[in-house]
Amino acid sequence: MTDTSTPTQHEDQQLKDPVSTPLYYGGQEHQTDQKLTITNPAKPSEVVGEAAAATRDQALAAVAAAKEAFPGWAARSAAERAELLTEAAGTVMVDSEREAAILSAENGKVIGESTFDLVGLVQRTELAVGLVDQVEATETLPGPPTEVVVSHQPMGVVTIIVPFNWPVAIMGASLPYALMAGNTVVVKPPPSCPLATTRAVQRYAEKLPAGVLNVVTGEDAEIGSALVSNEDVAKVCFTGSVGGGKKIMSMASESLTGVTLELGGNDGVLILEDAEFTEQNMDLLFAGVYGSTGQICMNAKRIYVHSSKKDELVAELTKRLEATQLGPASDPATTMGPFHQKAQLAFVQELVQEAKDSGADVREFGELPGGEWAEGYFIRPSLILDPDPSLRVVTQEQFGPTIPIITFEDVEEGIRLVNDSPFGLCNSVWTANEDTARRVGARLQAGYVFHNTHGAPMLDQRAPFGGIKQSGIGREMGIWGLREFQEPHALGIEKAEPSAEDADAPPVG
Ligand code: NAD
Repeated sequence: MTDTSTPTQHEDQQLKDPVSTPLYYGGQEHQTDQKLTITNPAKPSEVVGEAAAATRDQALAAVAAAKEAFPGWAARSAAERAELLTEAAGTVMVDSEREAAILSAENGKVIGESTFDLVGLVQRTELAVGLVDQVEATETLPGPPTEVVVSHQPMGVVTIIVPFNWPVAIMGASLPYALMAGNTVVVKPPPSCPLATTRAVQRYAEKLPAGVLNVVTGEDAEIGSALVSNEDVAKVCFTGSVGGGKKIMSMASESLTGVTLELGGNDGVLILEDAEFTEQNMDLLFAGVYGSTGQICMNAKRIYVHSSKKDELVAELTKRLEATQLGPASDPATTMGPFHQKAQLAFVQELVQEAKDSGADVREFGELPGGEWAEGYFIRPSLILDPDPSLRVVTQEQFGPTIPIITFEDVEEGIRLVNDSPFGLCNSVWTANEDTARRVGARLQAGYVFHNTHGAPMLDQRAPFGGIKQSGIGREMGIWGLREFQEPHALGIEKAEPSAEDADAPPVG
């Protein structure tokens, strides 16, 4: 359990009542003896609430409930499922100010981001529901000797494992697609930040038949294998770190459970000589680097800029960094919250120090909060200019508000630098010439390549999303994401060769 040696009550007016979440499976709430204690990253001594900590048997019971509900849910038409999901999504923004305050208090991020996190589940449900006509589409391979009808069938029970950073929206990239496809689901929220997600899932689930959607919180070591190494789980959709993804894949191999893995990235930004900087695209780049205190999978994590554009780029980012206000999410003046976890703060502090020690030009901005927030997991956002390319802040995912900026002279060199990474989630190309964007963009190794922007706000969610190389396996969203939750089914019907008489017969009509 999380250590809370000196708990104090949460002081945010939005959260006067203690927040406590149960398990929810088989259409009912379930209590537990053990609890996860959830604290505020801006003030770690402050308890935000507690979540049920399931036993292994309770996690198995949630899978059993989803298995029992599966035949009935799969037998409904896609149109019926679409109607129910639309109704379920209508619950997500009810009392959204309070829900966003809970998410910000447990996660650390600013209220606007938490509100948008909730909206993400609504928008993504709408997009999944919009695929209704394709869910049951079939294709026929003509005979003789066999006419094959290829359809897409639901898989069974799907486990969705959610990370801390954008838990509700990230869940939205898989949950409505898995349900639209006819599967039943067990969601496992992150143990350090489970409250808002569990509440959103329960409200959503209450609009669906019992057992179709379930949520189980607890310690990974206690409940992980019940939700993953389980022959009754057809697929696990995991979003999280590369190390976590490898562990899940190895656990899934024990039961031949399928996996979709949405993992970390080290996204490269390639700014060519002819790129044009505008207020808007610089705002988007700034958000795409520093949003959520740098804790977004598809944030820009390395910038390669043509040497002629470096000064202008640094000036644009500096202008925005100088306006950064570090603080708790409950303060409306805050523009950047703390890290979610202390270990991540220590890791990024180490990367920045390493860059300083190596002689890189490190520029830090903003002021660390004092007083009651002094113990929060805050860091001053920074720019790291001209670092040695072998430094960890360049080669690893920093997942924090700092960015290495490296110059290049020749476009081929720039492409090589961006691609020289074991990751491949998203990259971006910046150029005023659309043909160049198409040509260079096609050569950047990633699941998604942006043009003149970078980051989640500009991701076109109709497209498949996911990484290559160490950034993952499989795709979410769009029809590609929905098909990840279906099995192709081939039905071969015997078709006799037309007889000679049939062939000679005069056409009818
Ligand atoms: P994490 O791997 O620590 O945890 C992610 C989730 O997996 C949590 O719910 C955790 O409890 C669970 N988990 C981990 N090990 C488990 C086990 N053995 N059994 C059962 N559950 C287990 O990741 P995190 O720190 O929450 O998230 C940050 C990472 O996620 C970053 O690397 C980020 O880039 C990545 N991420 C990727 C995407 C994407 O779509 N590609 C989106 C968001 C975050």
